[in-house]
Amino acid sequence: MSATVIDGKAVAAEVRGRVRAEVEGLSPRLGRPPGLATVLVGDDPASAIYVRRKREACEEAGIRSIHHEPAAEIPEQELLELVAELNEADEVDGILVQLPLPEGIGSEKVVAAISPNKDVDGLTPTSAGLLARGEPGLVPCTPRGVMELLRSADVDPAGKEAVIVGRSNLVGRPLFSLLLGAHATVTVCHSRTRDLAEVCRRAEILVAAAGRPRLIGAEMIRPGATVIDVGTNRTDEGLVGDVDFEPAREVAGAITPVPGGVGPMTIAMLLANTVQAARGVLELRPA
Ligand code: NAP
Repeated sequence: MSATVIDGKAVAAEVRGRVRAEVEGLSPRLGRPPGLATVLVGDDPASAIYVRRKREACEEAGIRSIHHEPAAEIPEQELLELVAELNEADEVDGILVQLPLPEGIGSEKVVAAISPNKDVDGLTPTSAGLLARGEPGLVPCTPRGVMELLRSADVDPAGKEAVIVGRSNLVGRPLFSLLLGAHATVTVCHSRTRDLAEVCRRAEILVAAAGRPRLIGAEMIRPGATVIDVGTNRTDEGLVGDVDFEPAREVAGAITPVPGGVGPMTIAMLLANTVQAARGVLELRPA
């Protein structure tokens, strides 16, 4: 039987609708719309497209977009000062520094300078530490999107065997903490994993985030498993995931396509994180 295809576009639209409704409720209480500051350094065309999409999504959700576009030659110190200003700015609830940064600027240093309360990408060491400890904080958008997709497909991770392929700070590691927090038994694979196929076949929830086109074949999937494909690989045949979709859908119980699966969730969860950060402002305000 062919797997249910999880429609990331539809789930993302639902999340964006929820965010819009929440923004309507929040704005009068804040006395302003929630605000997301985007910082695009230099003129990398791919980064420019990503940032434009994020800004458009903000406007559509009623979130104010505050944009900074310093030149690629900006000294690291000046960029750190810009981040410090945004940390202090009352109208800014979330700060997103688009990565990668040009050579010569230390991405880790710049990201670490973002106030954890405004860290809507969830990439600061503080946010990562809170997540690893199972404490509340802002969570990276793509892993949060994966959890939302599981929820939408009525897949409760509790007690299940979950396998993640990939251990990056952006996807694999935060997802490990989220799935563990949701009471799954989690295994994380990487390039040194000895028998990837065997480990993957254990998974009731399999998340592929390796950035290797069609790494996961149908023979690596446990019948009936939920398969979430985070991979986005540009090939001669266009955009493909880490999962060999057509054969895999004959074995899996539910599966995300590429494109149209995890991709649309990332921006939706950025908006959700911005609203979460704005709610935090109200919680900190004296009654
Ligand atoms: P990354 O930093 O390159 O990490 C890739 C991970 O996969 C590493 O941990 C690596 O292991 C592991 N890996 C690579 N080849 C492997 C193999 N043959 N077998 C087992 N593990 C292997 O990538 P990332 O930033 O996490 O992104 C992963 C993919 O997700 C990329 O395709 C990226 O474009 C996509 N992505 C999509 C979205 C979205 O919105 N849809 C968002 C973020 C990322 P080692 O640690 O041992 O090197």
